[in-house]
Amino acid sequence: MKAVFFQQHGGLEVLQYGELSTPTPSMGEVLVRLRAAALNRVDLWVRNGWSGLKLSLPHIPGADGAGVIEMVGEGVTTVSEGMAVVINPNLGCGRCPECLAGQDNRCRNWHLLGETKSGTYAEYVVVPERNVLPLPESISMTEAAAAALVFQTAWHSLITRGQLKAGESVLIVGASGGVNTASIQIAKLAGATVFVVGSSPEKLELAKSLGADYLIDRSQEENWSKVVYQLTDRQGVDVVVDNVGTTFPMSFRAAKKGGRILTVGNTGGAIFEIDNRFVFGKHLSIIGSTMSNQQDFRQVMKLVFEGKLRAVVDRVYPLREAKLAQEWLESGRQNGKIVLEIGDL
Ligand code: ZN
Repeated sequence: MKAVFFQQHGGLEVLQYGELSTPTPSMGEVLVRLRAAALNRVDLWVRNGWSGLKLSLPHIPGADGAGVIEMVGEGVTTVSEGMAVVINPNLGCGRCPECLAGQDNRCRNWHLLGETKSGTYAEYVVVPERNVLPLPESISMTEAAAAALVFQTAWHSLITRGQLKAGESVLIVGASGGVNTASIQIAKLAGATVFVVGSSPEKLELAKSLGADYLIDRSQEENWSKVVYQLTDRQGVDVVVDNVGTTFPMSFRAAKKGGRILTVGNTGGAIFEIDNRFVFGKHLSIIGSTMSNQQDFRQVMKLVFEGKLRAVVDRVYPLREAKLAQEWLESGRQNGKIVLEIGDL
């Protein structure tokens, strides 16, 4: 099969496009002929590598994908050949106590597709049967692939972990990334008032089109937490969605007493200082999560299928141009998801 892969960690130059052997599905697995694969920041981190990461090489990146089931392994009962599906990249083992309790994103032997297992930048991928969800005709492969990781992540963070309620106020730090554009829509659907801090008028325009109520341009308002404070009658917001990390000091200031800080990532870097006086003095909760469980995935994807939530697709590239696609992702200039289209559509 045609695939994009790397044989060693490094920059864009390590990505290759060529032939690798097509995998075959084992017991309980399905082989998906991919039509679309969406990019995520984790793809860049895996390509660059980190200490302790051990991959079997060559490695195929890519967590998100949608396609058609080409072949099913022994014992597969819920899906069949020829079905259009979207992939849930959250690979719980399905057997440990957490998986059995419906918390598969806390699995004791957890893997993310494309991170520690061969991913979706390819014509074919093998995944467990429980990791595919049949697609209705109302949604394209491109939109489905673009939605899967970011919508489940945002939903689990805001709704399941964050317990967001109608009438609450939410500040989202960042206007245009995949998780942020999903978070804006989910917060609006939940009945919240949404504040967004973005780096440019163009990115804020996107946030507005998704329903954001208050827009703050940080290129004009460096001290955005003060602006939030003023806009909320000096109260602050109930919930801050902060997936930058290094912005925690500002997020703490922008939160109301008793507020919740939700985080699913750290695009600004992993290590930073916080002033603990804000945490106890303002009764703040810092709530982390990663990906979602199966139930949340199905629930949020149903809303995507119904058109109540939509993935924002920025650019589409053919599979062989994955290097250009990753370069665009690395530039940080994208508005929404970057997708690779695979095969003859
Ligand atoms: Zn498990």
